[in-house]
Amino acid sequence: MVPYAVLSALLPLLALAQDGGITGPTTSPDAAGYSCDPSRCQLPNCHCASTSPPGGLDPSEVPMFVVFTADDAIQSYTLDAVNQFLAHRRNPNGCPIKMTYYTSLTYTNYTLVTDWYVAGNEIADHTMTHVGSPPADEINGNLITLNALAGIPMSAIKGFRAPYLNYTADTLKQLYESEFTYDSSSTASVPVTDPNTDAYWPYTLDNGMANNCLTIPGTCKGEPKLPGFWEVPMYAFFDRNGAAGPHLMDPWLDTANGASSVNDSATLEYMQNTFTDHYRGNRQPIGLYTHPIHVSRTYPGVTVRASTINMINAFLDWAQEQQNVWIVSTEQLLDWVQHPIPVSQLDSVASLKCTTPQVDENAQICNGIPRNEAGLLSHCAFSDFPFYTCYGCPSEHPTPANPNPPQDSESTLLASAVSTSPTILLAVKLEETDVTYLLSSPSPR
Ligand SMILES: [Zn+2]
Repeated sequence: MVPYAVLSALLPLLALAQDGGITGPTTSPDAAGYSCDPSRCQLPNCHCASTSPPGGLDPSEVPMFVVFTADDAIQSYTLDAVNQFLAHRRNPNGCPIKMTYYTSLTYTNYTLVTDWYVAGNEIADHTMTHVGSPPADEINGNLITLNALAGIPMSAIKGFRAPYLNYTADTLKQLYESEFTYDSSSTASVPVTDPNTDAYWPYTLDNGMANNCLTIPGTCKGEPKLPGFWEVPMYAFFDRNGAAGPHLMDPWLDTANGASSVNDSATLEYMQNTFTDHYRGNRQPIGLYTHPIHVSRTYPGVTVRASTINMINAFLDWAQEQQNVWIVSTEQLLDWVQHPIPVSQLDSVASLKCTTPQVDENAQICNGIPRNEAGLLSHCAFSDFPFYTCYGCPSEHPTPANPNPPQDSESTLLASAVSTSPTILLAVKLEETDVTYLLSSPSPR
């Protein structure tokens, strides 16, 4: 029996996780009304929506990318859940797998965000309090709080996913204004084997959107025009019902082929079949878009079958047995799309390389490495959702109206500046209630 206080804290989080489903095609060529001249729209800052690989590469020269993402709060439970699929894997170059965490802040434990980022993963924006059609302060406040309490450089937070995948034309315009690099909330909802497939490689919105044209008013037919801003579609899996049987987020929670109960074997079958359709075709990426809480083995009150965990790992094992398959974060995918080179040359791609922060193991510093941070973490004991941070507790919970509250005057933590690698600089200087952040970029974004 879970105590009421614990249960009441859990229920909102479980409710938050129920986002991201589609039941059929979300666009058509007529609704899209998309046109783009590839001779005028060229990489790396412009790219037409296309089902063909970028850079004119032959599919045989194209890596097969499996994008792995997680959404919502970052907690020890959710990182454990992700690690059961990724921690033991390596990409073809021998480096650990990186993934993207679209982070919302309600229930997030900030010190774990720091750790996850420093381990090489991408931290992206999923609003502060998990609202669909988000106002600007929900989007921008997330940047400010992740910077203030997790030390993530604002310039490193490049991507956004809308809660419930519920975005509008205004959401995309806001992201552009806030200098995000990409959104990944739209859906590729028609199989690649269908001539009308909307499984486009990531593209810029110089000529508007080409996905979700039947479902999002004010987009497509050339709108919204946001030069250089990328859309990274989320690629659905399809069961035996084809376009009428799409599975997008957490496909292992769905029933397949019109059945009335979940069947892991049926899920594995259609995930493999969709992967193969992409792999043998134009190698558009596929994605495992997860809510880790649903596959947590340690979260109180959540029950996931061992067979489901095993099935997901069996899928990844099977995919990795094939040639040129890479499991990547969204920013790694996008970096390759912007600079497409043949698989034989992937060893030279910086974003796919291993990252190992060089740091004195005895130093006492806030750098996202637990042994260095020992004794430096503050426990911010808010009653609704307490958290730890290496950057000092705020006097009140961050909110969209006040994403960086003043430092708690009780806090006596003093953290010192540190450079952990040429690209990672997490630094903070605390002067009583004044906090100055020294970021890797001279301007915040
Ligand atoms: Zn969410």
